[in-house]
Amino acid sequence: MTNEDLWQAVLAQIQFHISKANFGTWFANTKIILKKDGEVIVSVPNSFSKEWLENKYNKLILKILRELNSEIKEVKYKIKPLSLKALKNIDISHETEIDQLKFKEFNTDKDSDLNPRYVFDNFIVGSFNELAQAAGWAVSKNPGTIYNPFFVYGGVGLGKTHLLQAIGNEIHKNFEQKKVRYLPSERLTSQIVNAIRNKNIDNLKTNLSQIDILIIDDVQFLAGKEKTQEEFFHLFNSLYEKNKQIILSSDRSPKAIPALEQRLRSRFEGGMIADIGLPDFETRIAILKNKSQERKIELKKEILEYIASNIKKNIREMEGALNRIMAYQRLNHSLPNLEVTKNLLKNFILSPSKVTNYKRIIQAVAEFYDLKEKEILSSTRKKEIVKPRQIAMYLLRNELKTSFPFIGKKFGGKDHTTAIYACKKIKKELKEDSKLSNELELIKERIYCF
Ligand code: ADP
Ligand code: MG
Repeated sequence: MTNEDLWQAVLAQIQFHISKANFGTWFANTKIILKKDGEVIVSVPNSFSKEWLENKYNKLILKILRELNSEIKEVKYKIKPLSLKALKNIDISHETEIDQLKFKEFNTDKDSDLNPRYVFDNFIVGSFNELAQAAGWAVSKNPGTIYNPFFVYGGVGLGKTHLLQAIGNEIHKNFEQKKVRYLPSERLTSQIVNAIRNKNIDNLKTNLSQIDILIIDDVQFLAGKEKTQEEFFHLFNSLYEKNKQIILSSDRSPKAIPALEQRLRSRFEGGMIADIGLPDFETRIAILKNKSQERKIELKKEILEYIASNIKKNIREMEGALNRIMAYQRLNHSLPNLEVTKNLLKNFILSPSKVTNYKRIIQAVAEFYDLKEKEILSSTRKKEIVKPRQIAMYLLRNELKTSFPFIGKKFGGKDHTTAIYACKKIKKELKEDSKLSNELELIKERIYCF
C-alpha cells in the first residue's frame, strides 16, 4: 500500500468518528510524508492542526493505522504550510472552511499566533464598539500600564477576536522586542492538561511567564475547568506583578461566567472592562461596504441594504453572505440582482421562529450555564439550577409558544402552575435586571445562530 492509499484509508475511517466540520478543519491538507521503522510522519498545514491531531485524535489515528498495518508503532506530525497553488484549488463552495484555512496557515505568525489580517485599520468603529476599540488602542500604545487586564466582552461574531488580535499586532509593530502571545482559552487548557499529564508543567510555566503580552480569547470556556483556572490564576499574578499586559475576551461579563473561581473573577474585573454591542444599520452598511471592497466586488445599494436589514447580530454572518455572493459572481461572471440575492441568501437569513425547537433551547440554556441538560429538566431545588430552569421555561413559552402544561410536565413532572410562575418571574426580573436580559440575549444568540 502506498503512503497515499494508506492515509486515504485512514481518513475514510476517521470520517465516521468525528463531525464533518471538525474533519474539514483538522484533516484538510494532511498526508503521510514518511513511513519508516514503525514510525509514520504526517504533514499538517499549521500548528493548530498539529496540536489538535496530537492531542485529540492521535489515539484514534494510531488505532486505525495499526489495524491497517500492524507494524506501525508511532505517529508524528510535522508542519508543512500549503503552497498558494494548493490553496487556490480548494473548492470555493466551502467559504467558511477556506476562510479558516487561509487564516490559519499563511497568516498566523509562528511565535505569537497572531493573524496579521486582523488590524485596527480594517476594524470598523461605530457606537457599538467604540469604547472597546478606543481602550484597545490605548492599551496597544501603553501595554502593561493603563488598562490591565483589559477585558472585552460581547456576542458571537461581533469582533472580539479581531480586536484582541489587532491590539496584539499593533503592540508587535510598536514594541518589537516584546513577546506577544495569542492563546484561545481552549488551547491554554489543553496545554495545561497535557503538561500536567506529561509532568512538564514547570516548563510550561516558565515558558508562559516570559510572555510580555498575553492574550486569552474566549475565557468563558475556562468555566468549570478548575485545574486550568488555578494555574491560570498563578500565571496571571506573576505576569501582572511584572506589569505585563493581559488581554481577555469573553462572550459575557466576568460576573456572568458560571463556575469561574471568585479570585479569578475579581482579577478579571480589576482592570478595564469594555463591551461590544450590536452595530446599528448605518454601521452595518459601512462594514459591508468595507468588506466588499476587500473582496473587490461592488454591490448595489439595494443589495447592501437587503443584507444589512436582514443580518443584524453577527458580522461574521454578514461576511458569509458576501462570500456567497462572491462565489456566485465567480461562477456566473456577473453580480446577482436583488431577486437572485434573496434566493442565494435564503437559507442564510434565518427567520428565528422557524429554526428552533425544544431540544435546541434546553441545550443552549444548559451550555450557557455549564449544566447538564438532565439537571435543567430535573426537579432539584439547587439554587444554581433553579434559575436556569426557569429561564428555559420562559424561553420555551416565548420562543415556541409551548403550552404551560407541557412545560410543567417536561421539567420534573410539575403541573402548569409551576411553569406559569417561572415565566412570570423571569418576565418581571428581566425588566429590573439588565444583566439577566444580557444573558438572555446571549442564550438566544446560541439558540438561533448555530
Ligand atoms: P468574535 O470573536 O466576537 O466572535 P470575530 O472577531 O471573529 O468575532 O469577528 C467575526 C468576523 O467579523 C471577522 O472576520 C472580523 O474580521 C469581522 N469583524 C468583526 N468586527 C468587525 C469590525 N468592527 N470591523 C470589521 N470587521 C469586523
Ligand atoms: Mg472570537
